[in-house]
Amino acid sequence: MDAIVIGGGIGGLSAAIGLAARGAKVTLLEKNCRVGGKLNVWAKDGFTFDTGPHVLTMLWALEEVFAAAGRKLSDQVELTRLDTVCRYHFEDGAALDAPGDPEAAAEAIAQFAPGEEKGFQRFLTYARQVSDATTDPFLRQDFGASVRGVPSSAQWGQLRDFLALRPWRTLRQVVRENFSDPRLRQIFELYALYSGSHPARASGIFATVADVQWRQGTFYVRGGLYRLAEALRETAESLGVVIRTETPVQEIIVHGRTARGVATDGGERLFADAVVCNADCLSALTTLVPEFARRSWTESRVEKIEPSTSAFLLLLGISGEYPQLAHHNSFLAADGEAEFNAIFESGVPADDPTIGIACQSLTDPTRAPEGSTNLFVMTNPPALSSKFDWQHEAAGYRLRVLEKLERMGLRGLRERILVEQMWTPMDLQSRYGAYRGAIYGLSSNGWRQGFLRPPQVSPDVRGLYFVGGSTHPGGGVPLCALSGTNVARRIAG
Ligand SMILES: Cc1cc2nc3c(=O)[nH]c(=O)nc-3n(C[C@H](O)[C@H](O)[C@H](O)COP(=O)(O)OP(=O)(O)OC[C@H]3O[C@@H](n4cnc5c(N)ncnc54)[C@H](O)[C@@H]3O)c2cc1C
Repeated sequence: MDAIVIGGGIGGLSAAIGLAARGAKVTLLEKNCRVGGKLNVWAKDGFTFDTGPHVLTMLWALEEVFAAAGRKLSDQVELTRLDTVCRYHFEDGAALDAPGDPEAAAEAIAQFAPGEEKGFQRFLTYARQVSDATTDPFLRQDFGASVRGVPSSAQWGQLRDFLALRPWRTLRQVVRENFSDPRLRQIFELYALYSGSHPARASGIFATVADVQWRQGTFYVRGGLYRLAEALRETAESLGVVIRTETPVQEIIVHGRTARGVATDGGERLFADAVVCNADCLSALTTLVPEFARRSWTESRVEKIEPSTSAFLLLLGISGEYPQLAHHNSFLAADGEAEFNAIFESGVPADDPTIGIACQSLTDPTRAPEGSTNLFVMTNPPALSSKFDWQHEAAGYRLRVLEKLERMGLRGLRERILVEQMWTPMDLQSRYGAYRGAIYGLSSNGWRQGFLRPPQVSPDVRGLYFVGGSTHPGGGVPLCALSGTNVARRIAG
């Protein structure tokens, strides 16, 4: 069988490997000059930055991709489990180190807010129950799509186990049941933002992030996470996948109600038995799928979808170092609620945003010249809309971010910048074709968006499949890898 994969993000590369490992002849077409999609890299004057993912978790999802090709993830990249999940910095100067070991994390919480460690243990137990109840039925298959027929008795059982977790409770409710210290509540509510969502509207099952971080571990890839994209590309090519970069697809060719291939921007027409689309499906559904074939996912339906948050990035190569920084840091908003209101109610970036900083050169000196530091600085603004004009307001926003960091202890930051790159949500849209620059396509706000993402198997066009963060099971490197593995299995058995 022949398959065409549109896009070389994690989902596309994983699908290509899974298909080729099962004997398919695969061609992958990527519009950019290299594969990886949002897992991307930027380098200047001896500094190297990952420009997307920094937190690598759920290694088993990637291990399964490499295993399909007879390889081991640990032979492909050098992994380091991080000792500290994150260092949280508060406006009043307080800081909480969250060690990667769950026992040590409970102790740190006990020191920071005595008595709260019991809630933390309960929260971790719930998080583990969520992981156990969701991994096979929801992450390894498109549960929503497979029960649109009549659920099997095994599926009824899985559904019962899932409902026992009371997934209709919001993350905010689950956090408040377990923590009373407002600072800890603020930290754990941030899990909703990891999927681009609001804690009072996203399901409590996002507590699973705690299990992922503490039991499954948070990892760094030596040389940078982009090494993963290189390892996936090399593995795909070793299986015979033909990867063509700088080849944007303009249209999916549909005859009757069946996908037959793709037409490229260069006017080429390529035919195949299956088309796997890794381009953001909210964009692809309205631009790549021909109009006559858009039945259930019409333009007006896509317009009603609430996108996930986007990202604002500053990549800063600075002289010297800041001893108060760990590998991962979060400089919290003084008022977490005001930040959520700005993003999700007003549709504008918060005046005082939570700022994530990754400092990879602490763990891996190859990322910056000697005596200097590479800082990846990120905030979570809303997706693009008419409410905020990045073209004219980005410079002012950049200043706000740098001033906040200086106020919270990174004194003299601006004077120490040697190299700098700024990316706004407009970059996510133009570089990766992300719908309105959203990181994960749609938010997980509300039951429908949280649990019934656009399906991996097109309901409208036979032979057309979707992989990547905007489809099932969701965004983030491991889930995108699973989306590719799931589709490869579905197509090629
Ligand atoms: C700033 C940032 C920080 C993040 N942090 C983390 C993190 O810490 N941990 C984590 O797990 N995840 C993180 N993520 C999310 C993670 O990067 C994504 O969920 C994941 O990489 C997306 O993979 P994907 O399969 O959806 O493909 P994408 O990365 O969306 O790639 C899609 C590819 O398709 C190509 N394409 C689009 N249209 C066409 C076309 N018409 N023709 C040909 N090619 C096309 C694009 O160029 C792109 O290469 C982060 C993302 C960002 C942006």
